[in-house]
Amino acid sequence: MDTIGFIGLGIMGKPMAQNLLKAGYTVVVYNRSRAAMEALAAEGAVLAVSPQDVTQQTDVVITCLPDSPDVEAIVLDQALPSARSGMLFIDMSTIAPASARKIYVALKAKGIQSLDAPVSGGDIGAQQGTLSVMVGGDAAAFQRALPILQAMGKNIVHIGEAGAGQVTKACNQIVVALTVQAVAEALTLAQKSGVDLTKVREALLGGFAQSRVLEVHGKRMIEGSFQPGFTIDLHRKDMNIVLQTAREVHVPLLGSSQVTTLMDGAIAQGKGNLDNAALITLYDGLSH
Ligand code: NAD
Repeated sequence: MDTIGFIGLGIMGKPMAQNLLKAGYTVVVYNRSRAAMEALAAEGAVLAVSPQDVTQQTDVVITCLPDSPDVEAIVLDQALPSARSGMLFIDMSTIAPASARKIYVALKAKGIQSLDAPVSGGDIGAQQGTLSVMVGGDAAAFQRALPILQAMGKNIVHIGEAGAGQVTKACNQIVVALTVQAVAEALTLAQKSGVDLTKVREALLGGFAQSRVLEVHGKRMIEGSFQPGFTIDLHRKDMNIVLQTAREVHVPLLGSSQVTTLMDGAIAQGKGNLDNAALITLYDGLSH
């Protein structure tokens, strides 16, 4: 089995690395803050002191970091100089497709395989090892990565060439954002009409409006429980990727622009670090 490096042990990365350990891989970890590293060391992970150190000790390096500049800095500036031909890099962060293509080209020039492999399924999917993984890159790299990805996810699809995984993730984030907004509007209407929210959610879950967002975020909205989960800050970052990519291919995205503005309002109110279900709280201020 390959020795796997894992960089970025946040809400997603930590449980994903734990699932690799459970599957029997040797996992070498690095994170900016130490607490998550120490928790994983207690479960058998090897601690590295830098991204270079991770690269030197491993055959496959996985990154799960916040944004495009973070991944470019770690992979291109820090890890790449000590990387060897024949290695495989898998970026599981959500970043711009253009950034994923830039990384693919730089690594390929040194004989290194790479995949963009963003995920969907949230913190629960990461913990349960049931993430959906959307992969861009060469078929040979995908075949090599598949058993590793299967330790973290269930629905693993090779979409196409480099960047295609991130394009798919951008599409995913459009659907999630607009559905969060739709559920927030539906539950606000129900509440202002004096109707029982729990029963509304229950009824809608059995019909055509059924969705995972209604199930998970709808529950969080009803309970007023906005511990992330997936923060508004990170979803806003993803909507920036969506709108930037749409501009590159000249597609006007009306709904996406509107929900992004709503997210900006939430961030301006100091709610960026809350779960994206907290978008519903903006409607409170707009109605009485
Ligand atoms: P997070 O902020 O919880 O975790 C990011 C981790 O990266 C943190 O532990 C941080 O310390 C570490 N980090 C940041 N910069 C670093 C650096 N320079 N060197 C080393 N470590 C560094 O974020 P998350 O929710 O785990 O999300 C990670 C990625 O996965 C993001 O791109 C996000 O959009 C995506 N994603 C998140 C979810 C979700 O539900 N949270 C779902 C799907 C995809």
